[in-house]
Amino acid sequence: MQVGKIIKVSGPLVMAENMSEASIQDICFVGSLGVVGEIIEMRGDIASIQVYEETAGIGPGEPVRSTGEALSVELGPGIISQMFDGIQRPLDVFMAQTKSNFLTRGVQLPALDHTKKWNFQASVAVDTFVSTGDIIGTVQETKIITHKIMVPHGVSGRVKEIKSGEFTLDDVIYRLETKTGDKEFTMLQKWPVRRARPVKEKMNPQAPMITGQRVIDTFFPVTKGGAAAVPGPFGAGKTVVQHQIAKWADVDLVVYVGCGERGNEMTDVMNEFPELIDPNTGESLMERTILIANTSNMPVAAREASIYTGITIAEYFRDMGYSVAIMADSTSRWAEALREMSGRLEEMPGDEGYPAYLGSRLAEYYERAGKVIALGQEGREGSITAISAVSPSGGDVSEPVTQNTLRVVKVFWGLDSTLAQKRHFPSIDWLKSYSLYDTEVGNYLDQELQVPWSELVTEAMRQLQKESELQEIVRLVGIDSLSEKDQLLLEVTKSIREDYLQQNAFDDIDTFTSREKQYQMLSNILTFGTEAEKALELGSYLSEIMSGTVLLRDKIARMKYVPETELDKINDLAQEIKETIKTIIQEGGMNRD
Ligand code: ADP
Ligand code: MG
Repeated sequence: MQVGKIIKVSGPLVMAENMSEASIQDICFVGSLGVVGEIIEMRGDIASIQVYEETAGIGPGEPVRSTGEALSVELGPGIISQMFDGIQRPLDVFMAQTKSNFLTRGVQLPALDHTKKWNFQASVAVDTFVSTGDIIGTVQETKIITHKIMVPHGVSGRVKEIKSGEFTLDDVIYRLETKTGDKEFTMLQKWPVRRARPVKEKMNPQAPMITGQRVIDTFFPVTKGGAAAVPGPFGAGKTVVQHQIAKWADVDLVVYVGCGERGNEMTDVMNEFPELIDPNTGESLMERTILIANTSNMPVAAREASIYTGITIAEYFRDMGYSVAIMADSTSRWAEALREMSGRLEEMPGDEGYPAYLGSRLAEYYERAGKVIALGQEGREGSITAISAVSPSGGDVSEPVTQNTLRVVKVFWGLDSTLAQKRHFPSIDWLKSYSLYDTEVGNYLDQELQVPWSELVTEAMRQLQKESELQEIVRLVGIDSLSEKDQLLLEVTKSIREDYLQQNAFDDIDTFTSREKQYQMLSNILTFGTEAEKALELGSYLSEIMSGTVLLRDKIARMKYVPETELDKINDLAQEIKETIKTIIQEGGMNRD
């Protein structure tokens, strides 16, 4: 291979000449140190290379060697519970060794541990004909995840030999007789991150991904295979929402990409997750988590790559038939990396300096989410749910990253700084947010839970919308201008907001609410409203109802702290609501006689 020569270094962008044999997307080793970069533009024999490590000290005249290979990830046992950087270098291994966030420049570490032995159990017999995506055996990678070893893409043939036992990633475990001769395979695959892994069929996602976050699951649900954006200003709670979903979502695996945000947030995850127990499996959360970190203190170009590294890993597990959720915090920082490279390439800037291809890049990313039937004989169903934080400066959602994101995702959780300031968390604005999956999920849950779920949700939202109209009137002419019925509605919606929508991520019980508990909680709040309204109609005064239900309303407010194991307490409350108000009706009648 020819050796190129650096002619210019501009931050993370290096230009090299004499590169005619290389092509766009090739990975190169740049400079005498051999730092890793990727060719993002070719003009004649000049390559523009985005470099994934610091370029300080690297200068013109130094060599550049192209590998002729695209930026790829290693896929195989040993990937779960790991923390990688944006180009899949094993940060945790590195951090443990050096107590530093940074990899020494130019050091080539394999992404996965090639010395560790895994117990591989073959599941096909000699003479079986196998092709792309077929599972030929398994490795119990963590207590809860069985790693399925799949025939790589573009491969098919008759199994000539396959063995079970203890193997490293480099050991040959099976041999196929293919059209082009016999080939040997290990448990390891590689995949270029910028290319979506092919599937048999894309499906329409309908089942909800349960997050345990009431405002999300009830009002703005996301499906397994759906995509959601969480835009919000600094401090509004984007990271907390993403952490909450990473902790509690009922998926098999979580890929968490910390992209351009503070490093200590990833450290928090690293410290907290091993201690936390996944309610769905009873095991530590790290047993199902993969972390990708390219925080603000790490090289900017690797940030651009990090979301592709993340989603490729997600696709690999999806192909095994798992449901995967991928979080990216924040895609605005990713877009800024894109903008920086585009600026250095002197491309024509579009809206707010972002390149014109910002929208198509975002669309390509979200396109890789979805529910699918994977390749392979078994017809496995897998899904990727993509949840991304967007951090528009000043919370202005009209800016390009938010707008281009909202064009492709179907769920919008709009965080509101006023709510955050009032410590209403999660600060998801219930009047502006939406989910285009709400009808499908509603129908699904009506069936699944055998309760009038969607009716209840529609009614609660109707009342919240009515509340905002009434508040406008109150601002103009005062509360006394409202009928008692409307004043009652304001009491009920206050309860919906405070006792239901507000959810403390840091309270052991409140942090997660099951669907069943969500239904009962919301149902009780609305039952209070309907029963109280009946009392009004029968002649009670609102003041009587409110003073007669102080204890009851306190119980309603405390439903969120009732453990999932004691749901009958919440169930019993419905009866107590009815009885208490019935008494008020009777006594009210007596007082006035
Ligand atoms: P952002 O990522 O949008 O800048 P964070 O997610 O870091 O904001 O949230 C900022 C702070 O808001 C948190 O440190 C926490 O104190 C508070 N907060 C956010 N969401 C919640 C929640 N659900 N429960 C309790 N506190 C929250
Ligand atoms: Mg944040």
